[in-house]
Amino acid sequence: MKSREVQVFVRIRPTANFARHLIECLPDGQTVNIYHRKNSKKLQDSRKRQPSSWSFQLEGILQDVSQEEFYTRVCRRVVLGALDGYNGTVMCFGQTGAGKTYTMTGSTESYKQRGVIPRALQEVFQEVEKRTEHAFNVHLSYLEIYNETLVDLLSSLRGSSHQSPHSMVVMEEPGRGVLIRGLSLHPVHSEEEALNLLFEGEMNRIIGSHALNRNSSRSHCIFTVHVESRSRTLSDAKYVTSKLNLVDLAGSERLGKTGSEGQMMKEAVYINRSLSFLEQAILALADHRRDHVPFRQSKLTHALKDSLGGNCNTVLVANIYSEAAQIEETLSTLRFACRMKCV
Ligand code: ADP
Ligand code: MG
Repeated sequence: MKSREVQVFVRIRPTANFARHLIECLPDGQTVNIYHRKNSKKLQDSRKRQPSSWSFQLEGILQDVSQEEFYTRVCRRVVLGALDGYNGTVMCFGQTGAGKTYTMTGSTESYKQRGVIPRALQEVFQEVEKRTEHAFNVHLSYLEIYNETLVDLLSSLRGSSHQSPHSMVVMEEPGRGVLIRGLSLHPVHSEEEALNLLFEGEMNRIIGSHALNRNSSRSHCIFTVHVESRSRTLSDAKYVTSKLNLVDLAGSERLGKTGSEGQMMKEAVYINRSLSFLEQAILALADHRRDHVPFRQSKLTHALKDSLGGNCNTVLVANIYSEAAQIEETLSTLRFACRMKCV
């Protein structure tokens, strides 16, 4: 069924002078071509081994799109699906600086620059008001995964969660799906209440990373809207539950030789491993001949187990730079995107 497949989009981060010689988006809106710059030293070194242009085809290539258009074209369907009872996941990946956090959370500079999460929250509460034939309960949680440890970004005592990261466990309950024991769930009744929690979570993310002297882009963050709904008209109606996961993945860049020591090395190893487990899980889901999907290999895939593939709406967003200097990472992000797309 088309609507429940994994969809993969690319969003190109705008730069002052967009490198047209480097990135070309075809008018079909689904093809992006990448060219090596003719005078690039790297090209001369690698010409023998590598082609000098690549073509990638994905669900949609988004270049110069506003936050509003991005939300409408890419995410709205998943948000509405969650209100209808389908689990959904929107996930951004790509190297640090390519626009993942801008896409998911947005910029506080202006209202127009709000990202996917605040827009989704607005839509959820608008729909809850509209759909008067149903009674809704909405809860929020905000989970950070750093080096395979779980951190609750909404635990009531700011910062305290960072001292006891081991108290949370990913569990599965028959009939209820995945549950993270120890992760706080917060009931919300309005967009404003929800935005306040989002803001608090963002602050905790920043404060926590400063306290531990690490870069916040080295962790995965899962903002989840838990929706419960029940028909008001059917007297014996049961609650239908669903989850909407809005995920800002850790930067996927590989480390250069200079950065490859100590803490940074450890972080990179954890990130690479969890991204490759994510890929394995998504590919296994697509392969209908396989009955085992390796979800438990990492906290990320385990936490998302009931929200990927199958009867869920899954959207992956590859965030890329348009700069020549970043071409290697851009290619690696697009290759990852294309492998996921085959699902
Ligand atoms: P990441 O989370 O992938 O590391 P960010 O989202 O923090 O990257 O983006 C890096 C910088 O680029 C931020 O200052 C952000 O505001 C800006 N930026 C990213 N994408 C866009 C975009 N589509 N339009 C305008 N600014 C953007
Ligand atoms: Mg970020």
